[in-house]
Amino acid sequence: MTAVHVPGTPVIEDGRLVSTSPATGAEAGRLPAATAADVERAVARAREAAGWWAGLGFAARRERLLRWRGLLARRIEELAELVHLEGGKPVADAIVEIVTAVEHVDWAARNARRVLGPRRVRSRLVLAEFSAHLEYQPYGVVGVIGPWNYPVFTPIGSAAYALAAGNTVVLKPSEYTPAVGQWLVDTFAEVVPEQPVFTAVHGLGDVGAALCRSGVDKVAFTGSTATAKKVMAACAESLTPVLLEAGGKDAMIVDSDADLDAAADACVWGALTNAGQTCIGIERVYAVAPVFDTFVDKVVERAGRLTVGAEGADIGPITMPSQLDVIRRHIDDALARGGRAVLGGADSVQPPYVRPTVLVDVPEDAAAVREETFGPTLTINRVRDADEAVARTNAVPYGLGASVFGRRRAVTIARRMRSGMASVNSALTFAGMSTLPFGGVGDSGFGRIHGEDGLREFGRPKAITRRRARSLLPAMTFDRTPADIDRLVKAIKVMYGR
Ligand code: NDP
Repeated sequence: MTAVHVPGTPVIEDGRLVSTSPATGAEAGRLPAATAADVERAVARAREAAGWWAGLGFAARRERLLRWRGLLARRIEELAELVHLEGGKPVADAIVEIVTAVEHVDWAARNARRVLGPRRVRSRLVLAEFSAHLEYQPYGVVGVIGPWNYPVFTPIGSAAYALAAGNTVVLKPSEYTPAVGQWLVDTFAEVVPEQPVFTAVHGLGDVGAALCRSGVDKVAFTGSTATAKKVMAACAESLTPVLLEAGGKDAMIVDSDADLDAAADACVWGALTNAGQTCIGIERVYAVAPVFDTFVDKVVERAGRLTVGAEGADIGPITMPSQLDVIRRHIDDALARGGRAVLGGADSVQPPYVRPTVLVDVPEDAAAVREETFGPTLTINRVRDADEAVARTNAVPYGLGASVFGRRRAVTIARRMRSGMASVNSALTFAGMSTLPFGGVGDSGFGRIHGEDGLREFGRPKAITRRRARSLLPAMTFDRTPADIDRLVKAIKVMYGR
């Protein structure tokens, strides 16, 4: 099919997936679109490679992953330019994204053996004659399905950890960013040319669905909550385990003892970076009454200074053209329900751009407060105190990240916010902390990438007991006598009967 391009909307032409810049319509990538049979073949090749990759062991995989990390770091400008071309993301934002991804490759490579490798664990007294051993063995082939908004950081957040754990990976990048996905697998093949350890299949949603049904041993999905449910349903057919990193509606709480300049700076960046197309972006703020007006003024002043445009601007185009309608609907609905725009407003949406928009006094049941907007917009609502802020934060089905600014109560507030992650006196910083797990609760999904939990997500625990002495209280044998059972009863009463 040949289609008239809405800039940024991918099309299939002559069996090829064509991606274009949402700002200019310039072609960014042209890659073969996979059929379901192609997906099966890719998974079969990955399965053949899995034995070799797992057999290399932790040290040899670490060495190869660190070589890839080195390549990513050396060619960071090239990759950032491609991310910019294909998704419209400002180059500076792309650099920050790639830096974070490089950090994760490094940490996963260096820590896989410590976290997943074979080790002794303690025995318990009732089975003291056995030693206990634990290791995390690779699943085999992991299917990674990625979104377009962070086309480097999100696939790598799963893939680097899966690879370090000894799995091979078949990536299905978003149809909006296939060229970036292909760049990642091509550069990996430069440092690991021997076998197809990390490969990609391209196409629309049906290719992702085919990957779920292809017999992969685990699926790591990052994308919207609606698609996450489809992925889980497809994987349920074959009991394929899933990791779901879905959407968010992250809140920031500004308490009365917050540094308001720092809070406004983090809020504007956390809400508007990547034009607000960030799963862990700040989409709503609850500021306590005594600081509300000053905080709003500071946010408006900072956000009002940002530039919008294709090249060298702070805020680039909306990557997925259809999202413009969602953003417009959220702004219009908020205004119709009595919200006020203190920056931007009804005319902010000027395709392919959206000017920064700050809304106040938006009712809590408005779409702009409850649904993922995914644009450079923000609601700020006044609350009585931190308790009310926490209650409102926790009243939506999403629970991905969170942020809180304050001093005395800040950590306590962060712990009470219903989310997988929180940053105190900063925004989004947990995403770059490779020692910490990343993931959500509720509609934001389950399972964790990053950190030790993120490594364990890609290994099956294998538990082994090994006899090291004769049993003094033989119980797990039909050779036991009534006297053995009597002794066992006495022992358990002595040990636990208090
Ligand atoms: P989508 O859910 O639309 O797509 C995600 C991926 O799933 C794409 O590769 C898509 O392919 C694929 N897909 C579509 N349909 C199916 C299907 N039936 N079966 C299997 N795969 C399918 O999300 P977006 O790409 O629009 O990404 C934005 C969303 O991702 C936001 O909600 C955001 O919050 C979330 N996100 C979450 C993160 C997290 O870590 N929790 C991080 C980043 C984003 P195609 O593009 O070809 O349709």
